[in-house]
Amino acid sequence: MQATVFRCPNCGAELHFAPPGVSVPAGVRPGCPYDGLSYAELRAGHDAIYFGPWRKIEASPFEVRRAYQQFRRHFDAIAKALAVQDLPAARRDLALAMEAYHGVDPTAISGNDLRLLDNALSFIHRVIDDLLHEKGLPPHRPMDFAEWYDAVEVPFRDAW
Ligand SMILES: [Zn+2]
Repeated sequence: MQATVFRCPNCGAELHFAPPGVSVPAGVRPGCPYDGLSYAELRAGHDAIYFGPWRKIEASPFEVRRAYQQFRRHFDAIAKALAVQDLPAARRDLALAMEAYHGVDPTAISGNDLRLLDNALSFIHRVIDDLLHEKGLPPHRPMDFAEWYDAVEVPFRDAW
C-alpha cells in the first residue's frame, strides 16, 4: 500500500496516511490530529519517534541512527518548552532522559543502546505529561494517534 507522507506546517508532525482506495485531491490537505492540542509539537515529536521504524524487531542500524538524530532535535524542543516553566519533576525527567541518551553509542548500535533509547523515550513522555498536568490536562496517549503513522508492524519490541 502506498503511504503518503504529510508534514504539518503547524506542529511539524510527519503523518502517514493511506486512505484505502481514496485519492486526495490536489490542494487538499489532510487534517492534523495534533492541531489545537496543547504542546502539539512535543506530542508530534514524541510520536514520530515512538512509532518510528527503529523500534521494530528488524530495524536497521540506519533507522536507529536516524532515530538518534530525531531524539536530539526533540530534546531541543522539550528544553525550550521547559525553560519557561518552573517544573522540577519535569526537569528531573528530562535530565534522566538525556542521561540515557548520552549513554548510547550511535556508531555501534547494540541491544543495550536500544534499551537506553527506549528509556529516554519513556522519560520524555513523562516530561510531556508533566507539562500537560501543569495545565490540568490528561496525559498524552500515543495510541490515540497510531492510525496517523506507518505503524502497521506493531507489536514493537516492548519486552526487554
Ligand atoms: Zn499539526
